[in-house]
Amino acid sequence: MKHSINVENNGPFAEHMAKAVETCVHCGFCLPTCPTYQELGQEADSPRGRIVLMKQVLEGHLESSEVETHIDQCLGCLACETACPSGVQYRDLISPYRATYSKKKSFFEWVRDKIVAMTIPYPGRFRWALRLGKLTKPLSFLAPSAFKPMTELIPDKIPPTEKLKSKYLATGTRKMRVAMLSGCAQQVLAPEINRYTIELLTHCGAEVLIPEKQGCCGALSWHNGNANQAKHLAERNLTAFPDDVDWIVTNAAGCGSGMQEYGLIFSGTKHAERAERLSKKVIDVSVLLEKLQFEKRISQPDSGASVKVAYHDACHLSNGQNVTSQPRRLLKAIANLELVEIPNSEICCGSAGTYNIDQPMIAGGLGKKKAAAVISTDAKYLVTGNIGCIVQIRNHLKALGSDIKVLHLVEFLAKHVVSTDEDTVRKKLSETVEICSGKN
Ligand code: SF4
Ligand code: SF4
Repeated sequence: MKHSINVENNGPFAEHMAKAVETCVHCGFCLPTCPTYQELGQEADSPRGRIVLMKQVLEGHLESSEVETHIDQCLGCLACETACPSGVQYRDLISPYRATYSKKKSFFEWVRDKIVAMTIPYPGRFRWALRLGKLTKPLSFLAPSAFKPMTELIPDKIPPTEKLKSKYLATGTRKMRVAMLSGCAQQVLAPEINRYTIELLTHCGAEVLIPEKQGCCGALSWHNGNANQAKHLAERNLTAFPDDVDWIVTNAAGCGSGMQEYGLIFSGTKHAERAERLSKKVIDVSVLLEKLQFEKRISQPDSGASVKVAYHDACHLSNGQNVTSQPRRLLKAIANLELVEIPNSEICCGSAGTYNIDQPMIAGGLGKKKAAAVISTDAKYLVTGNIGCIVQIRNHLKALGSDIKVLHLVEFLAKHVVSTDEDTVRKKLSETVEICSGKN
């Protein structure tokens, strides 16, 4: 698409944004894959429509306030990238655009976004915010409407705090040395995901380091347009993660995708080279387990009835990191497991970072459709690779009266083929000698 974007006047990401606009040939192949176009049926809520709107703002022909509703309604799911024959890097446009043009918010939206930004990336604060939210939940009907979706997401149970150690040794011969991102919200809501990740990786011959000074990856802030906070958080990880590891492993789709964007986040800064180097080492746990030949290390159940499992593609794994076949192959390696596909599997579940807080109507519609599609498979388990999807789909399955169990891939694999339960893993990991102060 021809444009007249002045790259000098549009902030540090202008070149990336201009390139994405330039690459779009306006063909519209992306429209059927876009969840908001499917839900809302308007060109302005399609990838092509949004690219044109952002272009016009960047050129100075429109005010950002005139287009912000349509830009806000984008999930950032990147399904449009996978459908685009021209190779438009939509991710190079949407997050940088949001970082360049801040949105006008009502007072309550401003307060809500501040609460989100000041709590979720910090596990200690987030845990306290959840405890407080749980206490005040019975009064949530008095809360302003901007807060209601947030209060509905507060879980009934908040797991106790767990500290990880700085190093977990490989079982048997060490094949590789990796560093794990321990994450922010996930380690509060579902600490078992990190435990099972460590258990599987060490079982398969990886030594796992948990860098002590690491923190939130910054993806949530980056995808929400809060580039300053994203840079601040990511900068901490640039120094926390060592160079002498083979891989940096993530177990949440959004975090992996966000860390792979460190090069873009720091483009034009003194950290650009280091950020680019680090981002190239970032790998999802499913890809790493394949590299470690997980299928050769598993103890298969002797017999038993076949179990039906559906796999849900988290957008930031399938679209963001091109990871679709690896988790499926890991599951297919299990005897007596029937892997089933979910109808319209490419459509986002509506979780998308804080989208279910910011855009509850659209997120709710997508969540309900996803849950109905999962139920139609008649699976006993739904397996996926992202905590946001787990919470969103679990809530919508429950609302539809389904008892399908929703598990992270690592939990499913650990329980079903390494034959390990939660208590065993917890005990085993606590026996490892090294001490970690696991900063919260
Ligand atoms: S990122 Fe997702 S919601 Fe946004 S335009 Fe692309 S397909 Fe549509
Ligand atoms: S498919 Fe790609 S090139 Fe075609 S309109 Fe969509 S973003 Fe533009």
